[in-house]
Formats: sequence, structure tokens, C-alpha cells
Amino acid sequence: MTRPVLYMPRAFATSEGRLDGYQLTGPDRTGRDGEVRAMAVAGTGKVDAAVMDRFPALEIIAKFGVGYDSIDVAAAQARGIVVTNTPDVLTEEVADFALGLLIATSRQLPQADAYLRAGHWPQKPYPLTFSLRGRKIGLLGLGRIGQAIAERLTAMKLEVAYCTRRPRDLPYAHYPDALALAEACDALVVIVPGGAETAGLVDAAVIEALGRQGILVNVARGTVVDEAALIAALSTGKLGAAGLDVFEYEPQVPQALIDLPNTVLLPHVGSATEVTRRAMGDRVLDNLDAWFGSGKVPDRVA
Ligand code: NDP
Repeated sequence: MTRPVLYMPRAFATSEGRLDGYQLTGPDRTGRDGEVRAMAVAGTGKVDAAVMDRFPALEIIAKFGVGYDSIDVAAAQARGIVVTNTPDVLTEEVADFALGLLIATSRQLPQADAYLRAGHWPQKPYPLTFSLRGRKIGLLGLGRIGQAIAERLTAMKLEVAYCTRRPRDLPYAHYPDALALAEACDALVVIVPGGAETAGLVDAAVIEALGRQGILVNVARGTVVDEAALIAALSTGKLGAAGLDVFEYEPQVPQALIDLPNTVLLPHVGSATEVTRRAMGDRVLDNLDAWFGSGKVPDRVA
């Protein structure tokens, strides 16, 4: 049996031998577009109707990641193309990371590290920072990762509240919209999917509602937060600090965010560990193998 042609824009980690069943192609190799039956995609690069039309034999797009807002799902459905993602295998890793970013942002861990390395400590102790003690943490999104973050926050003896479209049967206070949540909380952790539905959900009013000592952490997608409003609030002291793993036009990061002392900025590395990236790669291959085997894919999102 001929092996299906799999288009992979760049190599990603999978266990030994997992790619053996496929003929690999990608942007660096030309002339196979018409034979491509499967596509594995990573990152935030757009897979839109024009891309799909370049591959007339395409049957399945397998996203290496849980967020699939970079894929035009309606265009895929219109062409009968299946779309899959990699849920669950990164949940705990990303939750650990979100907690790390929240603590790093409030306690200014990277700034304090830079202070020590620059040799300032012998002259003057590092200034005092924000505390998470006694503060209420809002989660915008309480899905797989949001719940894992909530469990960690509870273990840290912090009060948790959340906003989702549908309230969950969980022991945290639910708020109907992002503004009401921000008004009730001291810090907001954003962990909703990206895409048109959530674009700009965290706007100037939400950001300012967190207040002068407020903290915003975004581990979701850059599009969810109004970046210009965030820069304005951080620059004028209307928001205390922000920890960001994702950006509106990543990998481009506004110089204004880089220049601010009250930001912790990371290059979209929420799931970026060897073990988790390998598990994600394996999950991509589980979906592709299932499609070309039984035709029933475990992680079908469209
Ligand atoms: P889930 O689908 O399990 O959870 C999504 C949550 O968002 C649900 O609670 C959902 O509740 C809520 N939600 C969706 N739309 C809205 C809305 N308009 N307003 C309020 N709440 C909303 O996803 P995961 O927890 O697995 O992942 C979440 C996202 O995190 C991913 O889509 C991805 O973009 C991002 N991510 C980022 C990573 C990184 O490296 N920084 C790594 C992994 C994920 P309801 O439907 O009731 O509204």
C-alpha cells in the first residue's frame, strides 16, 4: 500500500518510528501538493481557504496544539476536510506554566534576577513587590487548562472565580462576563480559545477594572487582549503588571511592552518541554493513523 503523503511545515517531536507510515513533504520540497492527503500544522500560521485549495487531495489537518484558531474550520468543513487537535496531553504542563508566570509577574522574578546579575544587590536590596496573598484570582476560561490552574490556585490557598459562557458545576464563583470578573478580582488569568469569538474580550475596561495593583496573565492567545489598551494601562499605572506568553502579532512583540519594567514576556512556550511536545506529536500521529486506519479520529474538532 502506498504511504499517504504528509505535509509538515517543520519537524516536531514524536516517538521513534511514528512517521514511518508516511511520505513526508513540506515547503522546502516542491511538486507534491496535489498528492498531499494529510497536513500537520504547528504554531499560529494561518491555514485558510487559499492554503487548502493548494492541496486538492487533502483529507485531514492535524494541529500540533490544543488551540486551532489558526485553522479556518468553516473552510475545512466546506471542503470535507477533517480537523484534529491535541487536547489533554499538555493540560498539566500549561497549568504549571501559568502558575509560574503568575508568580513571576507578581513577585517580579525575572526583574529581580536581572537586578542581581547586574550587580545592584550589594548597593541596595531589591524593591518590594506585589503579593498574591489574600488576593482573588479570576480565570477567563475554565476548560481543561483553566480547571487545572484553579486546582493549583486552591492548593495555594487563593480564592478563585471564573467567567465562561456556561457556568460549571464547580466550587468557584461564576461571573457572566469578563468585566464583572475583573471588577471582582485582583488578578486575571486568560485561558480561553482564540478566534473571532474571543477577540478583544479583554479590553480597556476589563484591564482597568483590575486596578493599579492588578495583574493580567495571558497564556491563551494574543488576540484575546487589546494589546494597545494593555500598553496604555501599564504605562500609566492603571494596571500593576502583565505576564504574557502570547501576542497579537507574534513573534513580533511591541517595543513598548519590551520597554516596560512591569511586564514579564515569554516567547509562547506554555507547552514547550521535551516530554510534552513529544506527547503532542504522538497525539498528532494518533489522529493521522486513526484516520488512515479506521477512519475514526479521537480528537476531531471539525
Ligand atoms: P477548553 O476548550 O477545554 O476550554 C476553553 C474554556 O474557555 C471553556 O471553559 C469555555 O467555556 C471558555 N470560553 C470559550 N469561549 C469563551 C467566551 N467567549 N467567553 C468566556 N469563556 C469562554 O480549552 P483548553 O483549556 O484546553 O485550552 C484553552 C486555550 O489555551 C487553547 O484554545 C489555546 O488557545 C490556549 N493554549 C495556549 C498554550 C500556550 O502555549 N500558551 C498552550 C495550550 C493552550 P464556555 O464554552 O462555557 O464558554
